[in-house]
Amino acid sequence: MTQLIGLIGYPLRHSLSPDFQQAALDYYHLDVHYEAWETSPKMLRAVVDKLRQPNVIGANVTVPYKEKILDFVDVIDASAREIGAVNTIVSREEELQAHNTDVEGFLRSLDTEAKFDPKGKCATILGAGGAARAVCFALLSQDVGSLVIINRTVERVEALVKKGRDYIARAGKTTEILLMPWHSSRLREAARSSQLIVNCTTVGMWHSLDESQSPLAADWIPQNALVYDLVYNPAETPLLREAKKAGASTLNGLPMLVYQGAASFEIWTGREAPLDIMFAAARKRTT
Ligand code: NAP
Repeated sequence: MTQLIGLIGYPLRHSLSPDFQQAALDYYHLDVHYEAWETSPKMLRAVVDKLRQPNVIGANVTVPYKEKILDFVDVIDASAREIGAVNTIVSREEELQAHNTDVEGFLRSLDTEAKFDPKGKCATILGAGGAARAVCFALLSQDVGSLVIINRTVERVEALVKKGRDYIARAGKTTEILLMPWHSSRLREAARSSQLIVNCTTVGMWHSLDESQSPLAADWIPQNALVYDLVYNPAETPLLREAKKAGASTLNGLPMLVYQGAASFEIWTGREAPLDIMFAAARKRTT
């Protein structure tokens, strides 16, 4: 019987995961189909229940469910629990086990593609959703010097900053974390003193309400910064266009997507992810 791996999110038209995950499964001649399960909020529970069927290996979880999905799984690994967000589920003997491979994907891409070491640097994160949580903990784990987190919904950024500060205290780290509302007058100042700016919002993503918008204008972006947009579709987002105008270095979300997907693939199959095949399949569908 053909086995299934699903992608749970809403909307999903922007996603490249089905392309490169299927290419990796086909590389090993596995009788497994990776399917996009576009899931409206009211369908979430029913779709998660589908993961308990015997022919389902697991799933990826994407926008907007990385935090919400915690309520529906049985076992949460230590890292996903610390972060408060999940992007990978594996179904073993009808038990749903939750993991987060976004941290690994983000750090591996930062190192391999941008040769950027966050230690001691000033960083700004735009957003406080599931992806921002992973990026926040990834940067804290690498002893980033200071972190400003900016989000439209203040309660959400407050919750993330509290979690980050708790972790800093427990782990004996020294990073300073500040939060700012989206329209803060201090936003320009924060951006201008950053060496790393990471967009973890959906602003600029194809098929989102704000697909043509950049969260920052060129004159807010310092020339010596790395601007990392987690959005990968389109390949050159409005933010990355502004960053290039400012003379900054840029990275889009495609390498992180493939690296986090490779880690998920290894959890589901126990086989080494064929990275070249995955990158080629992902790049085929971006512009
Ligand atoms: P999420 O949990 O739904 O969070 C969405 C974030 O975007 C929230 O902070 C939200 O702010 C913010 N946002 C949405 N519309 C906005 C607007 N008009 N103005 C300002 N902020 C806005 O989604 P997620 O899972 O974190 O994903 C976020 C983005 O990262 C997506 O584009 C996703 O594709 C990308 N991502 C990429 C990778 C990769 O591997 N490259 C991995 C993970 C995620 P509020 O809290 O105010 O709603």
